[in-house]
Amino acid sequence: MASLRFAKCFDPEGARFGIPTYPWRLAPEGLATRRQLRAEGLRPGGQPIAAQLLRPRFRREPLVAYLYRVDLAKPVRPMTSRKWGALALAMLARRTCPQCTTDAGYVIPASLGMCVPCAYPEEQRAA
Ligand SMILES: [Zn+2]
Repeated sequence: MASLRFAKCFDPEGARFGIPTYPWRLAPEGLATRRQLRAEGLRPGGQPIAAQLLRPRFRREPLVAYLYRVDLAKPVRPMTSRKWGALALAMLARRTCPQCTTDAGYVIPASLGMCVPCAYPEEQRAA
């Protein structure tokens, strides 16, 4: 009885579930899941869940996806300068050789654990 199960998930007024409920893949225009928002570079931005999608599953709880209003969504927060600073510091730490404590100018290879001149002093002298 696919039609009956389908009907069970269709509750646009939210009379049964408390919030508007639609069958899976039948989200109304203007609503999107968090994942769909993210694909557009958007985030829910603190808005409440507008509706839910239900996908019935055999002998299991239905799968639920929450929907948010696209018009209330906000752009994904850009990185703050503080975060950039932390990232730059982390990058500098990764470029700094623990042996000679200088900025090697590249990320220290994990296999060496130090900059190339420190790892191969013999070759450097020969060159
Ligand atoms: Zn070094």
